[in-house]
Amino acid sequence: MNKFHIRIGLIALGVVIGIWNFYILGIEWIAYQETKRSYSQTRALIQFSQSIGDFVHESQKERGLSAAYLGSNGDIEFKSRLKKQRLLSDKKFLALLQRVRTLSRYSLPATFHQSIQMSIEKQKQLGDIRERVFNLEISASEEIDFYTELNANFLGLLPLSAKLAPTREIALRLYDNTLLVECTEKAAIERGTLANIFAAKRFEPGMYEKVISVHAIHQSCKQSFIDKASNNERNLYNSYFSHTLFQDSHRIYEQVLSGDFSMGATKWFNHMTVNIDQLKTLHERFDQLLEEDLSRLEKKTLLKHEIFLVGSFGYGFFMLLGAIYLVQQMFAMINTLRISSVVFDSNEGVLVADINGKIMRVNPAFEKISGYSESEVLGLTPALLKSGLNDSQFYKDMWDSLINKGFWNGEIYNRRKNGEIYPEYLSISAVRDEYRNITHYVGIFSDITAKKENEERINRLAFYDPLTQLPNRRLLFERLEHALVKNERNKTYSMVAFIDLDNFKIVNDTKGHLVGDDLLKEAGNRLLEAIRAEDTVARLGGDEFVILIEDLGPSREQAFKIASDIGSKISLSLQKPFEIHEELFFVTGSIGIAILDNYTQTVNEILAQADTAMYSAKESGKHTFRFFDSALQQKMLKKLECEKTLFNALEENQFQLFYQFQYNHQNEISGAEALIRWFHPERGIVSPTEFIPIVEENGFITEIGKWIIAEACRTLHEWSHDPIRKKWTLSINISPKQFLDESFTSVLLDNVNRYALPPSLLRLEVTESLLINDIEKIQDIMYHLKSHGFTFSLDDFGTGYSSLSYLNSFPFDELKIDQSFIRNMENDPHASALVRAIITMAEVLGLEIVAEGVELAEQHTILQSIGGIHYQGYLFSKPVSKNEMQSVHSHESSDV
Ligand code: C2E
Ligand code: CA
Ligand code: CA
Repeated sequence: MNKFHIRIGLIALGVVIGIWNFYILGIEWIAYQETKRSYSQTRALIQFSQSIGDFVHESQKERGLSAAYLGSNGDIEFKSRLKKQRLLSDKKFLALLQRVRTLSRYSLPATFHQSIQMSIEKQKQLGDIRERVFNLEISASEEIDFYTELNANFLGLLPLSAKLAPTREIALRLYDNTLLVECTEKAAIERGTLANIFAAKRFEPGMYEKVISVHAIHQSCKQSFIDKASNNERNLYNSYFSHTLFQDSHRIYEQVLSGDFSMGATKWFNHMTVNIDQLKTLHERFDQLLEEDLSRLEKKTLLKHEIFLVGSFGYGFFMLLGAIYLVQQMFAMINTLRISSVVFDSNEGVLVADINGKIMRVNPAFEKISGYSESEVLGLTPALLKSGLNDSQFYKDMWDSLINKGFWNGEIYNRRKNGEIYPEYLSISAVRDEYRNITHYVGIFSDITAKKENEERINRLAFYDPLTQLPNRRLLFERLEHALVKNERNKTYSMVAFIDLDNFKIVNDTKGHLVGDDLLKEAGNRLLEAIRAEDTVARLGGDEFVILIEDLGPSREQAFKIASDIGSKISLSLQKPFEIHEELFFVTGSIGIAILDNYTQTVNEILAQADTAMYSAKESGKHTFRFFDSALQQKMLKKLECEKTLFNALEENQFQLFYQFQYNHQNEISGAEALIRWFHPERGIVSPTEFIPIVEENGFITEIGKWIIAEACRTLHEWSHDPIRKKWTLSINISPKQFLDESFTSVLLDNVNRYALPPSLLRLEVTESLLINDIEKIQDIMYHLKSHGFTFSLDDFGTGYSSLSYLNSFPFDELKIDQSFIRNMENDPHASALVRAIITMAEVLGLEIVAEGVELAEQHTILQSIGGIHYQGYLFSKPVSKNEMQSVHSHESSDV
């Protein structure tokens, strides 16, 4: 239903009420007008009656004077009076006619008008009668009868008009008036009859009987009036006639009957006229009273109508207003209901409960979410939805809020009919009546399972590593912050272990990311298994993991002990080979541990410490754990600093190759080893043991390596011009990264070709750490280089796997016994036995042997006794620059 319909409805209602009201008002208005007209008509009728009275009064006089004139047989005095009287009669008749015209305005019965016309017709005969009276051609009796008939005609109109009165009371009053007028007429007839007799002084034939009957009629008329009149009228009548004239008239009548005519016609006439005039005055007085009463009655009646009219109008008006108000209220209610029904049919569950919590109504969404139909829950309480996940305090708080504040909202876990627990956002409002008493509760809720899941997902993305599902860096930082605060409060220690998987990069690069990813997942799982549920394993990215373990207790020693146990446990957990896609991988972990002991530490500091410790674990051969110490940190910082300046060193020509000569069994120089030196502008000469591991780690070694090869080849080229030196070999150290670099072979070939050097003079030293990589690839490269004539030397033999079976698999030409064996051999027979065994075996394999780090003559002597090998060491010469090389060379024979 829209606004247009509402307006049409309102207008229709207004019209109905308006018409009805108008109808009532109309009827009342008509009644009002009718009353008014009726009273006006009555007034006109009364005036008409008065005119009749006036005319009849004069006609009566004319009749009497005519009778007297006839009786006197043409007396001149009566004649002149009669003339005057006739003029008066005519005047009153004219006035009467005037009234008749007025009456025509009213719708009076046709019979009434006919009667009036008949009377007027009768009057028209008057002229003829008057003529005959003047000429004395008419008897008194006839004359009197004519006038009487004429008057009777007019007087007969009076009861007719009385009948038309608006009320019975008025009608009765008018009848009374009529009766009085009739009595006047009887008196007048008597006056005329006796006047004739007095004038004639005898009884004309028939007059005697006439007098008797006229008098009797007059008397009975008076009596009948007195009998019928109301008290008021009677009193009024008596006050006029109690002791005066008509008593005399009866006496005079008696005299006349006895034949005494002495009184004379004039005297009689005058006497009787006084009486009749009195009657007329009384009649007029009656009319006046009647008119007054009529006016009063009219006013009263009209007032009633007016009050009713105004009342009806007001009533109708207020009814219309009331109807409009009611209709508006109704539409407002319909609107409210419609809005309520929309709310009720919304996607949110709605539950209405009474004051006792009994469910009274639920909506379709409630049924959908909870799984209960309305009929199943009516009369029960919402407790049937309880999941048990919210404790009693939760519900207590809810009710407190509802009773005190009138509402509650929040998240709550409820149970569906099928037993499934789901989270919902619920708001409950208390409904109060006009006295502020709670009457109902309305609960509106929405299922927020999807929302929660989304939140959870977002939370996961923000705080968890998508690959391993372990906490990410951000969450780790949060937990670390938390742990720092907790340590300080509880005076307890915690630990952070930084774990870097050894060799992971190689697996990842060679076996692909799928294998790498699975390996990382598996590593994460193993770490999780190694610790307690409340501890944190986070992945920082790549193959870096961090473990946070809290509550190691208040004792520092105890904390270190536990941390060290945990360190071994972690290390052990990663030691077992990883089986990924049915292939085994040996990926151990280097672990750095930092103890959170001091609450001034920041999260970044702690992680940096663990990181540093992890590097130290890596440096000490990997697959182990190390605690952080500040000396170590200093070293790491230095390393960092070093790394930064190293990048410029090549461009700035800060590198230089030093050469350490190698000697043969006959103490002749057989070759040299090129050893790099870094001339740092501030620090002076930096040892390769310090910077080689750094550039090896960051890959810069391949660039430096190219420079070394070029530089070594330049030296060989210089030597090639000298007859002795041109047979010397030059060994260069090749780090694994450099060896595996794609450009390695081509760089070597380019350089030897440039100087047309025999590649066999360039000896490539590699360590056992190279050989644990992809064996086949290394073999391929080695055999390829070998085919070009390059020779290979296995450096630092004895420090690594020291497996002789390796030697068989690769085309080595030379083996360098690590100086750690040589250093102790003069004191330690075990060491010299070992060296002897190595030399014997190498000879079997056809390898040349170099003993490194020969410092003492004793060492040289022992070695010489074992067999024909080469020597390199301070005893012979230290590594020297190219410039210094000349002097070493020239002294070679004399020194040894
Ligand atoms: P390395 O290959 O085992 O080199 C021999 C090291 O022993 C040299 O140290 C040398 O000075 C030292 N040495 C020689 N005779 C004696 C001795 O009688 N007593 C003692 N105590 N030491 C002796 P240096 O030059 O400091 O080189 C250290 C390591 O740095 C080398 O060990 C090698 O692994 C690496 N390195 C040096 N130059 C290069 C290079 O050009 N390329 C690569 N990749 N590594 C290099
Ligand atoms: Ca070497
Ligand atoms: Ca060596």
